[in-house]
Amino acid sequence: MYCSICRIFGFLIMDKLIDSEKAKELRRLIEMSERIVLTCHVRPDGDAIGSTLGLWHLLKTLGKDATVVVPDKAPAVLSFLPGFKEIAVYTCHGEFCESVVRESDLIICCDFNTPSRQDALAPLIQSAHSRKVLIDHHREPDAFADLMISYPDMSSTCELVFRLIASMGFYADVNLDCATSLLTGIVTDTRNFTVNCKHPDLYEILMHLLEKGVDKEKIVKESLNTKTYWGLKLEAFAISERMKVFQNHRCALITLSREDLERYHYERGDTEGLVNRPLEIKGITYSIFMREDPDCVKVSARSCDDFPVSEICKDLYGGGGHLQAAGGEFHGTLDECREKLVRAMSDYDKYLKQE
Ligand code: 5GP
Ligand code: MN
Repeated sequence: MYCSICRIFGFLIMDKLIDSEKAKELRRLIEMSERIVLTCHVRPDGDAIGSTLGLWHLLKTLGKDATVVVPDKAPAVLSFLPGFKEIAVYTCHGEFCESVVRESDLIICCDFNTPSRQDALAPLIQSAHSRKVLIDHHREPDAFADLMISYPDMSSTCELVFRLIASMGFYADVNLDCATSLLTGIVTDTRNFTVNCKHPDLYEILMHLLEKGVDKEKIVKESLNTKTYWGLKLEAFAISERMKVFQNHRCALITLSREDLERYHYERGDTEGLVNRPLEIKGITYSIFMREDPDCVKVSARSCDDFPVSEICKDLYGGGGHLQAAGGEFHGTLDECREKLVRAMSDYDKYLKQE
């Protein structure tokens, strides 16, 4: 009895963080829609795939015709997720994606704050006549959806989705597949509860997901601690041969050229997590990783001590993200990308904590 009162009380606390009017409106939109599309950002990560698949499983339980449509392929490490094979990838199944988007009544946009984060899929989503909902945790979202559910303080979009589900009164409809998807996003965005996880409620959500039967150990192993043979070799090479430490700026920079990547048989997802590694060096406050992709230099940044790498990504690489985890793109050579950072580095010393 005491326990169930605690749990009910717990839910009340969780609900307080979500605007109940927004949850009510989302429930209304879901109930009045039959064909629902769930979509996310390009180069989707665990939170993007976890939040869309999590909602997909919920909507299926509710009897809806739902489809996850993503801009490009998700990393293979996420293939353990239930429903992964059902995901429609725009770069592979363009015509199918076009028809489901055009025939949908509702599009739910997860884990991105501006249409350009969807690359080539953006025009299709933006021109669709369906109602749109944004569910996201990035700062300063563009107002492109009819219903904007933006909570930048949350650890992950998956955390937000769980809270919304509870607020909408659908907690009983969360099955094991939904719970597994949602915990994956929380685990990947918090790196297994090591960053961005100060809010005590997050552990209550973990408890509820465990009660649904999720296998947390498997999720951590599959989504964070699994690499290909070449992926592990590439990581070791990058740290040993391609990392430069700028001690005065407490910065570490890793760059990988096309040639480096080819030498190690690079496949999408192989450098996942690499940017975090230099933060293990005592005295390093932020880490930047630049990878020479076919279309651009992809920049990833991570920090500790609230150092705003999002500012660097915004100012220098037209990107953004969170204070301690951000990214951007550079159109030019890898050397130019590196030089741009090195030249600007001292501008950001003001954010370093006094020792
Ligand atoms: P990652 O380094 O894992 O690619 O991304 C880290 C964070 O930065 C994520 O929250 C992601 O949404 C954001 N991010 C990554 N790349 C970009 C980008 O090109 N533009 C913007 N605005 N955000 C990005
Ligand atoms: Mn996220």
